[in-house]
Amino acid sequence: MALYEQKLKPLNGNSKTVEVECLFCGEAFKVDPKETWRYACTDCFKKFVVPLRQLYDQKTIRTLISAFKEDHGGELFELEDVFKFAKEYFNNKTDD
Ligand SMILES: [Zn+2]
Repeated sequence: MALYEQKLKPLNGNSKTVEVECLFCGEAFKVDPKETWRYACTDCFKKFVVPLRQLYDQKTIRTLISAFKEDHGGELFELEDVFKFAKEYFNNKTDD
């Protein structure tokens, strides 16, 4: 138990952050080491993840955006592009 507490101590300093690349805009943003699961910066989270989450779960969103980016390369995109893509993407998948 004492060891465990010692390990956690450096995290309390709040100065330790980890850089994560935003899955949407590709920009690096800083997160708490406990939050490395984050895949979207604050802006993209509001813009894309919040509306997408009403339709899809986290895992699906990640899969979807990865597929979308593979298809669109580094182009900028809007939420409606993602929705359009999602429609085709899931239609094709449920066709079999
Ligand atoms: Zn972003």
